[in-house]
Amino acid sequence: MCATEYHRLLGIGESAFDGLEDHLESRTYEGREYRHVPDYRRGVERGTVLLEGTVVRGFPKVPRTLVLSAGIPTAFGDGEKIVVEEKLNGYNVRVACIDGEILAFSRSGRICPFTTRMLERLIDLADLEALFATHPGAMICGEIIGPENPYTACDYPGVDSLAFRAFDWRDRETGAPLPVGERRERYERFDVPQVRSFGTYEVDETAEIRRIIDRLDREGREGIVMKSLSGTRQLKYTTSAANRGDLAYAFSLPFDYGQPFMFRRLLREAFQSVEWDESDEVARERAHDLGEAIVLSMREAIQCVDDGGTVGEGHTVRACDDAIDALFEHLRADGLQLEIESDRHENGDRIVEFRKRTPSSNDKIRNYLEGHVVEE
Ligand code: ATP
Ligand code: MG
Repeated sequence: MCATEYHRLLGIGESAFDGLEDHLESRTYEGREYRHVPDYRRGVERGTVLLEGTVVRGFPKVPRTLVLSAGIPTAFGDGEKIVVEEKLNGYNVRVACIDGEILAFSRSGRICPFTTRMLERLIDLADLEALFATHPGAMICGEIIGPENPYTACDYPGVDSLAFRAFDWRDRETGAPLPVGERRERYERFDVPQVRSFGTYEVDETAEIRRIIDRLDREGREGIVMKSLSGTRQLKYTTSAANRGDLAYAFSLPFDYGQPFMFRRLLREAFQSVEWDESDEVARERAHDLGEAIVLSMREAIQCVDDGGTVGEGHTVRACDDAIDALFEHLRADGLQLEIESDRHENGDRIVEFRKRTPSSNDKIRNYLEGHVVEE
């Protein structure tokens, strides 16, 4: 397809498309060539894919508030109703049917060979095919969660390995969402598992929303995404448990996570403490838990390297041989160094425990342990 037609599909001018083209990444997936928008660009969502003369829109960035009572009325209209859904901690996937083939796209717009192969296990294939037969232009948006996860592993009760939960239904080409109610009904009709809804609230019902957060926090869950009934506006907010969990993880690989990642989570904690009007005693407890998450996980990493070990991002995957081979090929092609820790078969599946090497943390920790002197 020539550029002119793509610019029309994207709804941008020809010269804007010319400017965009330089930033597109070209990839191939099983002989199929495609291009995608790998980062945030004005006008076109990150993760937008151009292939086979059609477009798969990126999933929009979800804005966050640090203060519920002030952020909710800012993000949504006066007197507007919002739906509160659970925010799950896994990886974002968009599923679309291109030329009769059902493909899974990553957040940045790559076709994920592993997720594509796992789809029929995560959603009943007959349901998926029926959905695309009825709605060929659908883009199923959801989160892949669970402990046997090659990207973002997180435990959820009732999820032993890997699971899919839909949280949005958009038009593949325009990116326009279905209203929340209609979306939930459709997924129910096609038997596609979806994120939990906590119901509909007024924008000033902060106390009720706060209670949802408290409950999720106690259960160690990530948080919520609030949505206008039309599905067009979203706002996220995370629990202290999630902020702390992220910090513990990031500080266990202290030189591989960007410092802004850590700083942002610290800010969230401080704002939450103030919004929730914590007593000095409760705030001190929060600070203590946060300090433990940071220092103890770093200490463990340093001890591990000191004992001659290496730190890295450990993952377990369980899938058919083909999906695992495709995953490792995909990760290695991305420049990741993998250490396979165990590799076995069980009930026809291959189960592999592996680590993504994190050279920066290992090298820096070792250097410091060996007495490297820092100019600071
Ligand atoms: P973003 O750019 O979307 O903010 P991020 O990498 O910073 O991405 P998160 O902080 O995890 O991601 O928040 C947004 C992501 O949350 C979405 O991209 C989606 O994958 C995930 N998510 C989980 N549950 C939901 C939900 N119920 N509604 C919308 N998104 C959800
Ligand atoms: Mg996430």
